[in-house]
Amino acid sequence: MVLGVILHKNKDKYVECQKIQISFNFKTLRRSTLRLKKMAIIITDECINCGACEPECPNTAIYEGADDWRYKDGTKIRGKVILADGTEVDADAAQTPISDDIYYIVPGKCTECKGFHEEPQCAAVCPVDCCIPDDNHVESEETLLNRQAFLHNE
Ligand code: SF4
Ligand code: SF4
Repeated sequence: MVLGVILHKNKDKYVECQKIQISFNFKTLRRSTLRLKKMAIIITDECINCGACEPECPNTAIYEGADDWRYKDGTKIRGKVILADGTEVDADAAQTPISDDIYYIVPGKCTECKGFHEEPQCAAVCPVDCCIPDDNHVESEETLLNRQAFLHNE
C-alpha cells in the first residue's frame, strides 16, 4: 500500500490536491513483468513442493525434484531430433534432474506458455510466487513460438 496524489478541479477552477491510497497487486504486477520481459521461467528455492504447477504446464516442462525428464513427455517429438541450436538429442532418453530437492523447469521445454496461454501458468498458480523470470534465458517471442511448434509438431 502506498500513498499517491491526484489533482482535480472544483467548480471555481481551483486545483487542489487530494491524498489517496493506491494498492498494488504485486502478483498481477509480476505477471505483467513476465509478459513484457519474455524470459523463460525458473523455480526458486522458495518452492514448497506443493506440486500445483506441474499439471498446469502445457509442455510438461515441470518435474518433481529428483525425477528424470524427457523431451517426449507431454510433446509429440520422439527418437533422435535436432534442436534449434543444432544439438542432436534422443527425445525418448531419460535426462538428469536439474534439481534433486524442489520442482524444476526444463528451459528447453518451457515456452512461457506461448501458443497456449496469455501468461505463464506455473506462475499463475504458484501459492508462494516462486516461479520467476530466468535472467539466464531471455528469449524472443519468435523463439518461444518456434519451440512450441517444434515440441508439438505443428
Ligand atoms: Fe510450463 Fe508455461 Fe511454466 Fe514454462 S511458463 S514451465 S511452459 S507452465
Ligand atoms: Fe513449487 Fe510453486 Fe510449483 Fe508449488 S506451485 S511445486 S511451490 S513452484
